[in-house]
Amino acid sequence: MYRVTHTYTSERIQTISKLLKTRQDTIGQLRDNPDVSVLIVGAGINGASVFRELALHGFDALIVDRGDFACGTTAAPSRMIHAGLRYLEFGEKALVSEGVHERNLLLQNCPHYIFPLPTTIPFQSRFEGMMGVIRKTIGMSPGKRARRRGAWMIKVGLNMYEKFAEHNRQMPKHHFTSRAEAFKRRPGLHPKTIGTVTYYDGWISYPERLCMEVITDAESACETARALNYVSARSSLGDTVTLRDEIGGQDIEVRPKVVVNAAGAWIDFANENLGHPSKLIAGTKGAHLVLENDELLEALDGEMLFYETPDGRAVVALPWLGKPLIGSTDIPVDHPDTARCDDDEIDYMIGCLSHVLPDIKIDRSQILSVFSGVRPLKAAAAETTGQMSRSHFTHVSGPTETVNFPVFSLVGGKWTPFRAFGEQATDKLLAHFDMPRKICTESIPIGGGKDFPHTDLDRKQWIKDAVEATGLDEKRINILLGRYGTGARQVAEFCADGEDRLLANHATYTAREIEFIIRNERVWHLDDLLLRRTAIALLGELTGGLLDELLAIFASLHELTDDQAAGERKRTTDILLDRHRIDLS
Ligand SMILES: Cc1cc2nc3c(=O)[nH]c(=O)nc-3n(C[C@H](O)[C@H](O)[C@H](O)COP(=O)(O)OP(=O)(O)OC[C@H]3O[C@@H](n4cnc5c(N)ncnc54)[C@H](O)[C@@H]3O)c2cc1C
Repeated sequence: MYRVTHTYTSERIQTISKLLKTRQDTIGQLRDNPDVSVLIVGAGINGASVFRELALHGFDALIVDRGDFACGTTAAPSRMIHAGLRYLEFGEKALVSEGVHERNLLLQNCPHYIFPLPTTIPFQSRFEGMMGVIRKTIGMSPGKRARRRGAWMIKVGLNMYEKFAEHNRQMPKHHFTSRAEAFKRRPGLHPKTIGTVTYYDGWISYPERLCMEVITDAESACETARALNYVSARSSLGDTVTLRDEIGGQDIEVRPKVVVNAAGAWIDFANENLGHPSKLIAGTKGAHLVLENDELLEALDGEMLFYETPDGRAVVALPWLGKPLIGSTDIPVDHPDTARCDDDEIDYMIGCLSHVLPDIKIDRSQILSVFSGVRPLKAAAAETTGQMSRSHFTHVSGPTETVNFPVFSLVGGKWTPFRAFGEQATDKLLAHFDMPRKICTESIPIGGGKDFPHTDLDRKQWIKDAVEATGLDEKRINILLGRYGTGARQVAEFCADGEDRLLANHATYTAREIEFIIRNERVWHLDDLLLRRTAIALLGELTGGLLDELLAIFASLHELTDDQAAGERKRTTDILLDRHRIDLS
């Protein structure tokens, strides 16, 4: 049997019993007084967004997630902060316009996690797909969707895309590159490529961390706003919703005036538990591969490649935290719990790459990890999954015969417009409570984006100040700034208040930093740390040695017995293998 060797014996180590007490206090308060104005079920990015809006309006809102914060689809996007150029083809102008606006706000409000992303589209024809555009322009049906988009069609789309950004332009306009120039930069492009066009969108480094920051910002804004991970909504009757503390194993009964169902792809299942049966969602799963392939990384050259498959689907390859990431698929699923990246999807994604960079061979042994999520799309008829609308809306139902509260379900939604979606849903809630909007979140920085040093000069000064205050070196502060934004100062102070030694099995994380995360970020399971507070697992950095080293810290802080630690290790390796194909056996 595996035994934890408690190698982590820093004298300064304190248990996280204080943190556990905070959780128990919150649960205790709910037992003493079960009344809450709004219960939000699901702490993905959309639930978090509504939670922040409500907290800023002083509501005693409670947000719960049956797993960790951001453990659902919020952890599975292509890491693009974009409005979806291709949705213009389906006439989703309002969605795209909103997405461009929100992308630009996010570049300003979250400069620690969201960055401009030059995006290059190689094309093999000039005019393909144009007939559809012309037909649409003159008010006719676009006819059958083009299997391929030629340069002119892309240009029409980009002109429109960029027009939406005109009042708050953050990035340069698109430019075309000739065949000769394109091949000079990327000799491995498909020989049929006749040119490329490059435009600008955004990418996100740590979506899971950003979601958590939205939640903690909300808690800081309002002391009656409370958030609990590992608490599920199980059933409801009359005024009461029964929650289950998945850590302590006890039930908690709450009496919400309103419930917000932000369970994403699980909305219909959650509505069943909430006594509001619905058929709102038709989810499609999408998978990604994180690769170890220097040739591909070099060909990407700091940009995203956005290319088409022969069946007309758009897929992407982009650099993410130093590794190439490729995706995604779009396949209907019956139950989101069953979504895994299967063998066919891996073959498909690798095969797709050969349509843009045919000489780059991807070997399965180069797959560092896979991840898969289910798009919470609105149930509606569509010819293909790609044509299903990506728009979002709030569906209001009830009270019903069995329960006395209404449910506001957040249907659809991309990652990028989460602020707008949260704002729109909250406007409906404010109307329900007959309250005015007091504050707009458009220009409120999030988490470590607050007081962020935007210019090179400010950044240098920020780092210099942190070096002087903590005694940590410049390189280390720089790394922390990249991981936590201005929250890095607090992490650095904690690290400096002990021996900030690197882990034996990781080149850039120290034991103190891991301790900080576990103590402050509600890490109840080891996979919270490996998959959502850090990107260690997805980036392929996890070895058996590192797992044991991190487990030792985790086990010490949580005061686990050896048997409990062995159980935690097994839980973690099972999840990593089952959901991410990371085999540590
Ligand atoms: C393959 C793929 C690629 C994508 N790429 C992008 C992209 O690049 N850019 C972009 O903008 N968008 C992208 N998206 C879309 C985006 O990721 C999602 O739309 C968004 O994350 C949905 O967030 P959510 O909060 O609505 O749902 P989720 O994040 O799924 O949150 C729902 C939460 O509810 C919880 N829950 C469920 N049932 C219960 C219950 N009974 N009790 C308590 N909690 C419960 C779940 O545990 C989960 O955490 C992509 C989606 C997919 C699938």
